[in-house]
Amino acid sequence: MSGDLDPIVVVGAGLAGLRAATALRERGYAGRLVLVGDEPDPPYDRPPLSKEVLAGRLPVSATDLPVPADLDARPVPGRAAVGLDRAARTVALDDGTALRYGGLVIATGASAAPWPGAVPERGVHLLRGRRDAVALRESLLGGGPVLVVGAGFLGSEVASAARSMGLPVTLVDPGRHPLEAAVGPAAGGFVGSVQAAAGVDLRMGATVAELPDRRGSALLSDGSRVTARTVVLALGARPNTGWLRGSGLGLDPGTGALLCDGRRRALDHRGEPVPDIVALGDVAAAPHPFPGPGSPAHLMVGHWSEAVDHAAGAAAALLGDPPPEGSVVPSFWSDQFGLRIRSVGLPRAADRAEVREHDPRQRRLEVTYHRGERMVGALTVNRTSRLAAHRQAVARNLEGAVTAPSA
Ligand code: FAD
Repeated sequence: MSGDLDPIVVVGAGLAGLRAATALRERGYAGRLVLVGDEPDPPYDRPPLSKEVLAGRLPVSATDLPVPADLDARPVPGRAAVGLDRAARTVALDDGTALRYGGLVIATGASAAPWPGAVPERGVHLLRGRRDAVALRESLLGGGPVLVVGAGFLGSEVASAARSMGLPVTLVDPGRHPLEAAVGPAAGGFVGSVQAAAGVDLRMGATVAELPDRRGSALLSDGSRVTARTVVLALGARPNTGWLRGSGLGLDPGTGALLCDGRRRALDHRGEPVPDIVALGDVAAAPHPFPGPGSPAHLMVGHWSEAVDHAAGAAAALLGDPPPEGSVVPSFWSDQFGLRIRSVGLPRAADRAEVREHDPRQRRLEVTYHRGERMVGALTVNRTSRLAAHRQAVARNLEGAVTAPSA
């Protein structure tokens, strides 16, 4: 890293930003550290927001992330980065000031994808941050019915929390089963049948054509109508890279994610790694761990573990240290309807799934995912003990580029 007198600036004070800052200190970086975040809150954890917080089992204040006592980072809360000048090595902030950096960590995460049209003034919610969770909880406390648009992990967890409060819930998704895009039809079908048994009105193969009118009646693409007092849009996430436009860094033309190499160094528009800028967490798209026909070259994974597990590697790359030993296996979890869903690897990269255990009575499921001869992922429901072995198998099959230096 050059420009050692200038601080390392971390933009994005969420999970990835905090973990990267911590990893820099753990690797012996003793210079100045600045942590810029556009939210007024200290770093907090998002997974409980759609689970315990929404269901009222955890106060929102309990989601603060622990900050090491010796982090010694200057917080700049409530300030958004609005531009990056790589020649001047400055980050422009929304108060008109510019921060010089010796090294830059980009950890601006993602935002909830918005509805692609006009939205009624009241009753329609997105869920990404603390304030969203508080507003949605308040709305749920006012009673149902609830319409959840999008049956991915987030939408399904919201449906679970709303059902746990006794509210009528309709869950709409164009897929055949909830979660199918992420985990395939076998696991999606399993979870869908549990959701239906828990009283969710599942409308698969449909989309919402019109959000609720003044009488609270939404129109679905199959012509049916659904009454809703509260609507939750769970349509996916969009990386927060708007502030990087014009910086010469490479953005994925499809998702808008910031492209980086296997060491999490940001790529410029020619695909060359930039040595003094790293990116991690939901904002970043790194080389696909299982490249092959039909896979994008770079993938935005968007799981909690990505922000955590790549912090050490990103810090090492920024400091010019060799990469840490070992490979990082993607993983995620979801808790909903009494199901402990756990996954390692990348089920969505598979061309074939093998169901190894399917026990609806005990609510247990174990599926492994394969691409050609390689096992690329595994998923268990209420069977966590099986995961360690699967993780090892997947790790053996990972592309070496995940942690090995590419230059
Ligand atoms: P974020 O957590 O989004 O943090 C980025 C921070 O940067 C934010 O504070 C943002 O406001 C800030 N920022 C954005 N733009 C700017 C800017 N221009 N200037 C300054 N600051 C900026 N994953 C799982 O694996 N399992 C789960 O069960 C799970 N549940 C989830 C539930 C919810 C409700 C949500 C929203 C996510 C969930 N996730 C889950 C995903 C997981 O939380 C994310 O992968 C993780 O938060 C990514 O961390 P991050 O730091 O990259 O991004």
